[in-house]
Amino acid sequence: MTTHSARGTCALCGSSHPLSTFVPASSLAGGTRGRMLADWPELTPDAPICPACRARYRRQHLEALLEAERGELTRLDHAVLDSLESGRMLTQEPGAEADEARTLGERAADRLARLGGSWGFLIGFALVLALWMAVNVTGLVVGIFDPYPFILLNLMLSTLAAIQAPIIMMSQRRQEEKDRLRSENDYKVNLKAELEIRHLHETLEHHLARQWERLEAIQRLQIELLEEAAGGAEG
Ligand SMILES: [Zn+2]
Repeated sequence: MTTHSARGTCALCGSSHPLSTFVPASSLAGGTRGRMLADWPELTPDAPICPACRARYRRQHLEALLEAERGELTRLDHAVLDSLESGRMLTQEPGAEADEARTLGERAADRLARLGGSWGFLIGFALVLALWMAVNVTGLVVGIFDPYPFILLNLMLSTLAAIQAPIIMMSQRRQEEKDRLRSENDYKVNLKAELEIRHLHETLEHHLARQWERLEAIQRLQIELLEEAAGGAEG
C-alpha cells in the first residue's frame, strides 16, 4: 500500500514510476522543455516528467542540435544518441571485440606474421641457410643433395616468400580494421562527452537563472513584509 502511494504518473506518457524519479517540467533546460512544449502545448510547469520521457526529449533536442550544425547524421552519430538516451556506456575496447571475432585462419595469419617479423625467426633462418650451404659444399653428414648454386634452396626460398606476402597482408588488413574500430569508438566517446557537457551547461544555466528569479521573489516578499510591519508600527 505504501509502495503504491509512493508512485506517481508521468504527465506525458502516463506510466507509473516511484515519485522520487520524477522531475517537474519547469526544472528541465530550455531546449529539452521547448521540444516537450511543441508536442504538449498544455504542459504545466509543475507537471511530473518520468526519466524515459526526459531522455527521449533530451535526445530529440541534441539530435536537432547536431543536425543543425552538421546536416545529415551518420551511423556513428545515431549510435551516440542511442547511448545517450538509454544511459548505457559505449563499447570501451573495440580491439578486444575484434580479437574475439576473428576466425581460425585469421588467428593463424596473425601468429605467423608475428613469428615472421621476429629476430628469432631471422636468426634461425640465417642459420638454416648457412647449414644448408655448408652441407652442400663440404658433403659432410648427409652428402651433397643440392650442389652449388643451390637450386632447390632457391625454389624453397621463393615459395616461402610467395606464401609469406599474403599472410602479412591478411594480418595488416585486420590491423587496419582494428584501427578503424578504435578511431570510430574514439569519435563516439568524444561526441558523447561533448553533447553531455553541452547539456549539463544548459541545465546549469537554467537552474542558475531560476534560482536568481526565486531569490528576487523572496527579496520582494521581505520588503513587502518590512513595509507592512513599518506601516503597522506607525499606525
Ligand atoms: Zn513519461
